[in-house]
Amino acid sequence: MSELNPHHAVYVGSFDPLTLGHLDIIRRGAGLFDKLTVGIGLNPEKNPLLTPEERESMCRQVLAPFQNVEVKCFSGLTVNFVRECGAAVMLRGVRTLTDIELEFTMTLANRALDPAIETVFLMASEKYSHISSSLIKQIASLGRGNTAEQLKSFLPREIIEPLLAKYRAG
Ligand code: ADP
Repeated sequence: MSELNPHHAVYVGSFDPLTLGHLDIIRRGAGLFDKLTVGIGLNPEKNPLLTPEERESMCRQVLAPFQNVEVKCFSGLTVNFVRECGAAVMLRGVRTLTDIELEFTMTLANRALDPAIETVFLMASEKYSHISSSLIKQIASLGRGNTAEQLKSFLPREIIEPLLAKYRAG
């Protein structure tokens, strides 16, 4: 088996859309590891709002200033993707005790699948721990005139207009 780089981490998610909470984990992860790959999981069962291309282009635009961060899409098992990237670390963000419980079982399953990959958790920042992609989609779909302003505390500014345009287009 090929060697995995312990200074390279992979952060996966649906990023439907990328939020300020995700961005905070990415910024902190990019400071801890030499290289960080952001993996956009393409799981059609989740019935995402945004297409893979939209999610990828939003992530690329927002993450362009980070020299050591790359963006890739993947399907299939996360541990397989992490191994294909050559990374030894899977980075996760946790917001609540419920997140920790879910992550705990998932980490054990991933360890059974590929013991060479370690999962590292970063606690969400207080400022962002209430943010989730699903909450943002509710605000964007139900909000009225000042939604763009309201979304500023949840979303990277580059993503606000494209997301609202998606809802306007139906
Ligand atoms: P998934 O669809 O796999 O749940 P998400 O895109 O919602 O993926 O989240 C990807 C990762 O980011 C997960 O580890 C999740 O716990 C973490 N995360 C999501 N929102 C936040 C946040 N506001 N602060 C910190 N971590 C977060």
